[in-house]
Amino acid sequence: MAKSIQAYDNILQLVGNTPLIRLNDIVSNFDGNFYAKVEGFNPGHSAKDRIAVHIVEEAERKGILKKGSTVIETTSGNTGFSLAMVCMIKGYDCILAVSSKSSNDKIDMLRSMGAKVYVCPAHVSADDPRSYYEVAKQLHREIEGSIYINQYFNDLNIEAHYRTTGPEIWEQTNGLITHLVACSGTGGTISGTARYLKEQNPDINVIGVDAYGSVLKKYHETREFDHNEIYPYRIEGLGKNLIPTATDFDIIDSFIKVTDEESAHTAREISHKEGIFVGYTSGAVMQAVKQLDAMDTFTADSNVVLIFPDHGSRYMSKIYSDKWMEDQGFFDKQKAAEVKPVEV
Ligand code: PMP
Repeated sequence: MAKSIQAYDNILQLVGNTPLIRLNDIVSNFDGNFYAKVEGFNPGHSAKDRIAVHIVEEAERKGILKKGSTVIETTSGNTGFSLAMVCMIKGYDCILAVSSKSSNDKIDMLRSMGAKVYVCPAHVSADDPRSYYEVAKQLHREIEGSIYINQYFNDLNIEAHYRTTGPEIWEQTNGLITHLVACSGTGGTISGTARYLKEQNPDINVIGVDAYGSVLKKYHETREFDHNEIYPYRIEGLGKNLIPTATDFDIIDSFIKVTDEESAHTAREISHKEGIFVGYTSGAVMQAVKQLDAMDTFTADSNVVLIFPDHGSRYMSKIYSDKWMEDQGFFDKQKAAEVKPVEV
């Protein structure tokens, strides 16, 4: 037989099929079994690779995108990096309108993937023509054949996870999953994954993780938008100050809120105890599971799946920097004793 070379055609073939990893030490005192779906294993280091591939390929199927077309989005975070990677491989221009609050590191990272980055003033309202939302919309109007991803209001965001993350978890757990605990930002991850899983077994308990300072939990409980819930917080990618249509509130059974401080410490604890290097929101999900355990949510038979959305490398100057932690006031004496500083 002729010899062949075992290689992927390109980096995009590695998107999805992320591992499910049992958590051991960090949950040693909890009732139940706990497994993390570690999305940092995607080539773009986050779950957003899944939506970037799906949304771009749907636009190709519909004939909207052709070689040389432009993909536009408002993000400095994971979605921007994933889109830039997809566009690089597929030959599209990628324009990302980001807020001037974004760190230079993040902007450099997006540019290193070939994206054109428009830095827009942070302290203007969303409807100001200078805001990153309005700049993106304007560019979309002006550039013929462009698509605007608009992840908070795009049903394909849910569909990407319905088609991939949900079936993967169902297969990896052999249908034995009892609880899903996942962050809600756009809501695409939790909604799509839960929709698929509940179609297989409606008894699976789906718990969304929200931030203090975000409206999602209150909206889920009352279906009312409460401005009083909104105040600044530090975790990026979790919670929101608006109601995204990419969140299916009916499929989520309950929400639980977590703090910036505890989530940061818990992310560091995951690295220390499980050897899995994760981002800030993975700490938030783990923190939520700690709170749920304290509320006796789980039993010895529970098989709980947590989604860890991204990789720790994006947070070196934040939660993995002792200086940053100290500046936030996150190192009081007791906590500093519990969590050994990371050597960078
Ligand atoms: N964690 C991180 C780091 C993210 O960037 C996001 C996306 N905003 C989320 C969690 C939440 O995922 P989703 O938008 O699918 O709700």
